[in-house]
Amino acid sequence: MRIAIIGGGISGLSAAFTLEEKRRAGAAVDYVLYESAPNFGGVLVTDQIDGCLIEAGPDSFVTEKPWATDLCRKIGLGDQLIGSNDADRKTYILVRNRLIEMPDGLMFMVPTKILPTVFSPLFSLRTKIRMAQEWFHPPHKATADETVAAMVERHYGPEMVDRLADPLLSGIYGGEATQLSVRAVLGRFADMEAKHGSLGRAMLAARAKMATSKTPPRPLFTSLREGMQQMIDSLLARLDPRALRHSVPVQSVIPQDGGWTVSAGYQSDQFDALIIAAPAHVASSLLRQADPNLARELGEIRYSSSVTVALGYDEAVRRSLPPGFGFLVPRSEKRRLLAATFVHNKFPHRAPKDRAIVRCFVGGEHVEQTLASTDEQVIQLVREELQQILGPQILGLTTEPLFARVYRWRSAMAQYGVGHLERLERIEALRQKLPGLALAGNGFSGIGVPDCVRSGSEAATKVLADTHVVSPV
Ligand SMILES: Cc1cc2nc3c(=O)[nH]c(=O)nc-3n(C[C@H](O)[C@H](O)[C@H](O)COP(=O)(O)OP(=O)(O)OC[C@H]3O[C@@H](n4cnc5c(N)ncnc54)[C@H](O)[C@@H]3O)c2cc1C
Repeated sequence: MRIAIIGGGISGLSAAFTLEEKRRAGAAVDYVLYESAPNFGGVLVTDQIDGCLIEAGPDSFVTEKPWATDLCRKIGLGDQLIGSNDADRKTYILVRNRLIEMPDGLMFMVPTKILPTVFSPLFSLRTKIRMAQEWFHPPHKATADETVAAMVERHYGPEMVDRLADPLLSGIYGGEATQLSVRAVLGRFADMEAKHGSLGRAMLAARAKMATSKTPPRPLFTSLREGMQQMIDSLLARLDPRALRHSVPVQSVIPQDGGWTVSAGYQSDQFDALIIAAPAHVASSLLRQADPNLARELGEIRYSSSVTVALGYDEAVRRSLPPGFGFLVPRSEKRRLLAATFVHNKFPHRAPKDRAIVRCFVGGEHVEQTLASTDEQVIQLVREELQQILGPQILGLTTEPLFARVYRWRSAMAQYGVGHLERLERIEALRQKLPGLALAGNGFSGIGVPDCVRSGSEAATKVLADTHVVSPV
């Protein structure tokens, strides 16, 4: 049984690892992993600059979702897992060019502690009154999907969308609350609303449950001592090197004789099954010939681009930067910077004691312009915005950084629009008609690293079950 995997990001590598495990356990499985770039790993890239550990893409993953942690343990990285420095966890929101600390007790955007919220300058009196009224919302089961903005506005008003929901979501999806589907992105909130009505009461009930649980509190984010790329390097070391083909973009896939012909470079190869673990827009163009309807549905999944910029500074800047993990910038502030992370506080060992690392995110409506700019222009832009936001009290911020590096991520983050879950059902129905095909990646059921790990592993299990190599348990 031969299986082709297209895409060597974490989703494709996780699929390959699952197949490798089955192969080692005796299943008659052979695979080839195609990656168009010179390196495997997709957006998981770690650099070392001036003694600092720099993440070009994701810097960590949420601890609550187990799949990435479980994979790390399986590939021998259990002792390399580290947690975020939650003792210093503080996030600021930029409001009228002033950084305001997010009040204690916010769970995502839902306030669960009265006093810190009442005294927080982050919200106007009108929003605070809406928060109190929200407590009495009756259960509400929405009949149709809606945007995150619509749901949050119904509960807390428009200021909550602008100052919290939207910046938090653009930090995760690079997307807008007015575009993203509440069911696909915040399904838990939709369930809480249906059961409790008030999100505040629902969150408190969840918190009370957590307080009685015997498991000790875990850090919010997990990462790896040597950076996220450690996961990629360890996975690669456990795969069959003859199966790994980098710098080989797949050009076409054609269903033939119950299997698939995959054309890449100047070669075509025959496989019994196919896992596409590339972004949905790539899957769409590859499957156009096999099934135009499936290709159309996949092409409807939108993707956004982003740029990250790592800036290194000296001890003086480190001492005068605010404490905490960093800040988020609401769209209404009209800036190109969406967020910045103070890496030396979030993961202290990633910078020597005499270095500060500020990681900036640029995205949103002007991102195409930023992608087209030179590195020098992008660095200039983020430095100017940082100086305006952080102010002249940050000593040394106006001097040249010790290092600066720009990373461009074109169409890399899936945006789950309204109706995404229904689209997934249509995609699944169409997929089932094509023999031995599975889809993985961040376009479907979760954009974070743990969800991508799960999607790759499930895709591998699915093709093995569909082709009866390994029966599902
Ligand atoms: C800047 C940024 C920050 C992020 N931060 C976080 C974070 O902190 N925590 C978190 O959990 N998640 C984060 N994410 C999201 C998460 O990292 C991604 O969703 C996830 O890594 C995607 O993995 P993937 O394998 O599905 O896709 P990708 O990493 O995009 O990999 C797909 C691969 O397919 C290859 N490919 C494309 N076309 C072809 C072809 N025709 N033939 C062969 N190969 C092809 C590409 O070259 C690429 O390597 C972040 C994402 C970005 C961009």
